[in-house]
Amino acid sequence: MQTITSTEELRTTVKNWKRDGLRVGFVPTMGYLHEGHLSLMKQAKKAGDKVICSIFVNPTQFNDKKDFEAYPIDLKRDAALLESVGVDLLFAPNVSEIYGTPGTAQSWVTVEELSKPWEGAHRPGHFRGVTTVVSILFNLVSPDFAVFGEKDFQQLRLIEQMVTDLKFDVEIIRGALIREPDGLAMSSRNVRLSPEARTAALAISRGLFRARAKFQSGERSRQALVDTVRSELSDSELVKIEYIDLAAEDTLEVSDQLSRPARLLVAAFVGGVRLIDNVAIGD
Ligand code: AMP
Repeated sequence: MQTITSTEELRTTVKNWKRDGLRVGFVPTMGYLHEGHLSLMKQAKKAGDKVICSIFVNPTQFNDKKDFEAYPIDLKRDAALLESVGVDLLFAPNVSEIYGTPGTAQSWVTVEELSKPWEGAHRPGHFRGVTTVVSILFNLVSPDFAVFGEKDFQQLRLIEQMVTDLKFDVEIIRGALIREPDGLAMSSRNVRLSPEARTAALAISRGLFRARAKFQSGERSRQALVDTVRSELSDSELVKIEYIDLAAEDTLEVSDQLSRPARLLVAAFVGGVRLIDNVAIGD
């Protein structure tokens, strides 16, 4: 596997691949990779001929400076993991490669409505940073397709909308949310959980699974499903809920119509670490 930090070298490599008629897949990440990320790489490997993974801890999407500074980094370990699943190229740029000389960039990409609720309401500026960096990366990499995980469901919907609106010539492929054997959604932030918080965090997936089971056995009240998750999470003092709600898959608006595809979404701080999770609900 090649590791590249410069845009010029990246562009030349991709141009050569495309000239040879190869289909190029792309998986953007912030590194500290786990099986959830690797499942996206494997999916990309199946859908294309060459796979590029980027690792870039994007400063503009962190609304909380402490969260940015605490974000785990281990490029050497990540490179070995990527190699083990057959990724062809790791793009690991520094901040100036993406944003130019500090203080000079003036352009942002914003997806208006989809960025307002949920994560957008709790993390001001977060999605503007995400959609801007993904646009820049799409322009640098020029992939034929890109894979995004359903773990960050709202982010995935924003990217789909952005690609449609701005006519990016990139196919967006959804990757399933991957969990630890005990149910916890895999996340790079999980390493920051203390043993007690790690146990308390299980209430999130337990609550979501219980609510989904209720839906499957006929419950059709949004409030009842939300309360099911809330009651699991309310038991622990370590857990501070940010939001629990049911949102339509397409618009992300609060949904009482359980006949349409929806997502039960949760965000909570557990022992000071912010975690998000979701399950699909709908007939
Ligand atoms: P991140 O490194 O957290 O920015 O995530 C990079 C990509 O991996 C995004 O498309 C995420 O949605 C995806 N991802 C993160 N965690 C998981 C997971 N547990 N299952 C599936 N995809 C994931």
